[in-house]
Amino acid sequence: MDNLVLQCRCGQIKGRAININPADRTRVICYCKDCQAFAHALQAGAVVLDEQGGTDIYQLPPARLQIHQGQDQIRCLRLSEKGLYRWYAGCCNTPIGNTLSPRVPMIGLIHCFIADPERETKLGPVRACVNLRGATGQIPNSQLNAAPARGYVGKLILKMLGWKLGGKARPNPLFTRKGDPIASPRILSPGETL
Ligand SMILES: [Zn+2]
Ligand SMILES: [Zn+2]
Repeated sequence: MDNLVLQCRCGQIKGRAININPADRTRVICYCKDCQAFAHALQAGAVVLDEQGGTDIYQLPPARLQIHQGQDQIRCLRLSEKGLYRWYAGCCNTPIGNTLSPRVPMIGLIHCFIADPERETKLGPVRACVNLRGATGQIPNSQLNAAPARGYVGKLILKMLGWKLGGKARPNPLFTRKGDPIASPRILSPGETL
């Protein structure tokens, strides 16, 4: 198992993801409109989104994410009062990842924050294309066949249960022990950018 080098574009935030194994099969592309809105809010659509509006995300349990430098630059936004916690680098607007809530033991790391030169080998291929209805273009059939949406959520829920039982839900570098986000979330209105 490998570690992944994590870093924002400007280098102020550094960390790593540990015990990465392609056999985890948790790399997905999410086409939902909210992930697109997040990228646009950061004015980073061109670097985050693929041709069909998809975001390449690696899902892992909180305990496998470590931030070693620049914690104070981490910022949080939400697209509504109950939206996901969406994390980014305040220093350079690099998207970092998404979390559902402090109780859900999963972080979705966005590819832009994964600075590892061996990223492709360490993560393995995309396993599922999800939230296809939000796609902004025709996703190639070859991609849909190689990484079908069907069944993915069920597998992920089982995986999260395993992570929780295996003690991987904590520590969570994005929430305090009491479950408060480390940066207070800013609620963004539709179309608003930072
Ligand atoms: Zn930065
Ligand atoms: Zn999404």
